[in-house]
Amino acid sequence: MTAQSHDIVIIGAGIVGICCAVHLAERGLRPLVVDRSGVCEETSSGNAAALAFSDVLPLAQKGMLRNLPRWLSDPLGPLSIPPAYLPRLLPWLVRFWRAGLADRREASIGAQATLMRLAEAEWMALLDRSGTRKMLREDGSLELYEGREEFRASLPGWAVRARFGIAFEHVEGAPLAALQPGLSPQFTHGTFVPGWKTVGDPRVLGKALWAYAEKAGATFRRARVDGTALDGDGVVLTLAEGGTVRCRRLVAAAGAWSHHIARRFGDAIPLETERGYNTTLPPDAFDIRRQLIFSGHGFVVTPLDGAIRIGGAVELGGLERPPNFARSRAMLAKAQRFLPGLAAQGGREWMGYRPSLPDSLPVIGRSSGSANVAYAFGHGHLGLTQAAATGRLIADLVMGDNPATDLKPYSPQRFRA
Ligand SMILES: Cc1cc2nc3c(=O)[nH]c(=O)nc-3n(C[C@H](O)[C@H](O)[C@H](O)COP(=O)(O)OP(=O)(O)OC[C@H]3O[C@@H](n4cnc5c(N)ncnc54)[C@H](O)[C@@H]3O)c2cc1C
Repeated sequence: MTAQSHDIVIIGAGIVGICCAVHLAERGLRPLVVDRSGVCEETSSGNAAALAFSDVLPLAQKGMLRNLPRWLSDPLGPLSIPPAYLPRLLPWLVRFWRAGLADRREASIGAQATLMRLAEAEWMALLDRSGTRKMLREDGSLELYEGREEFRASLPGWAVRARFGIAFEHVEGAPLAALQPGLSPQFTHGTFVPGWKTVGDPRVLGKALWAYAEKAGATFRRARVDGTALDGDGVVLTLAEGGTVRCRRLVAAAGAWSHHIARRFGDAIPLETERGYNTTLPPDAFDIRRQLIFSGHGFVVTPLDGAIRIGGAVELGGLERPPNFARSRAMLAKAQRFLPGLAAQGGREWMGYRPSLPDSLPVIGRSSGSANVAYAFGHGHLGLTQAAATGRLIADLVMGDNPATDLKPYSPQRFRA
C-alpha cells in the first residue's frame, strides 16, 4: 500500500496540538493533525478552564511538599500514589524533589515566568484573531485559606510572584465576602488575583480554534498512531487501523503519551501523568463569582458557561488504571462544606491525564534523532494556559525563525544529566 504523504503531521489534537496547527497553518503550512479520539476530546476538554498566567511556582515548591504527609494520609485526599505504582514512580519523584531545591527553583521560576508572559500575549492575540475572545472571562481568581496560619504560609510564594510583577491583593472580612458571598466562615483569608482568567468551556474553545485552524489550511484524521520511524529525511507513522502516513516533518503533541513517541527518536523523557478529577454541575448549583482556589485541599471551583466545575487532585497512578471517581465525590463533598448550600445533584464526573515533567516545565524543542521532529508536551497543570505560546514557539522552530523566547529551559535534552 502506498503511504499518504504530507509536509507536516501533528500527533495529538488536544489544546497543544490544536494551537500548533493554528500557528503552522497561519504561516502557510497545511498541517495534518492525527488523533485517536477527535478534536479536543480528552484531557484538554474537561479541565478547570484557567488561564493561570500567574502560576509561576514549580509544583514542588507550591506547598505540595509541605502538605505531603497530611495529603498522603487521606486515601481520597488531594494527592495519592497507588502503592503498586510507587517503584515505577520513584525516579520521577526524586527528580521532582530535586526540582524544589533552592538552586534549581530560581531558574525554573524564571523560565516559567518568561513562558507565562508569552502565554498571555499569545492567548490574547489568538483569541482576537480567531474571533473567540467572547469565550474569555476576566474576573480573576480567589485563593482561600483556613485561618491566619495557612495564609501566612502562603506569603513567601506571593513574594516570589511580586518579584515577577504579578498583581494580587490579600483580603479578609467584608472585602473577602464581597468577592465570594456565601463562603464557610472557616475561610478567613484570601488572595485575589485580578489578572487570572478563565474560559467559558475549554472543549468549546478547543473546537472553535480548530474550526479556525481548518479555515487556515489544517486537516484532521482520526487514527491511532502505533509506530513512528525515521525514513530518509522524513518520518513514517504506522496507524492502528492499518496503513501508513509519511511526512517530512513531525510534531509530537500527544499529551501524557508523548514520551512513548520521543523514545523512538532517541529521547528518554521522564513524563508521568498526574491524573485529575472533577464534577461538572448545573449552573444554578451556587452563585460562583470567579474561580475559587482551595489550595490546601487541592481543588478549585470554576464558573463555566452554563455550568460549575469542581475538581483537581493529583493521582500519580500511570496511564493504565481505571478511574476512581470516589475522588470526584470527595472533592464535591468538601465543596459542599466550604460553600454551604451548594446543590451537588445532577453532576457529571470526569478524569483527565495531566502530562507532567518533574520540573513543572514543558518540553518544547527538537528531537535528538532528527531536526525534522519536534516535541510539544508535558505542560502538566498548565496545558491550556501555555498552549498558544507553545504553538507559537513550535511554528518558530519549524519555520526556522528566531524563537519568541530562548528555548533552552524547555529543551527535551535537559533530563540527560
Ligand atoms: C482536573 C484537571 C484540571 C486542569 N485544569 C487546568 C487549568 O485550569 N488550566 C490549565 O492550563 N491546564 C489545566 N489542566 C491541564 C491541561 O488540561 C493539560 O495540561 C492539557 O490538556 C494538555 O494538553 P495536550 O494537548 O498536551 O494533551 P491532551 O489534551 O491529552 O491531548 C493529547 C491528544 O493526543 C492524542 N493521542 C495520544 N497518543 C496518541 C496516539 N498514539 N495516536 C493518536 N492520538 C494520540 C490523545 O487522543 C489526545 O487527544 C488540568 C488538567 C486536569 C486533569
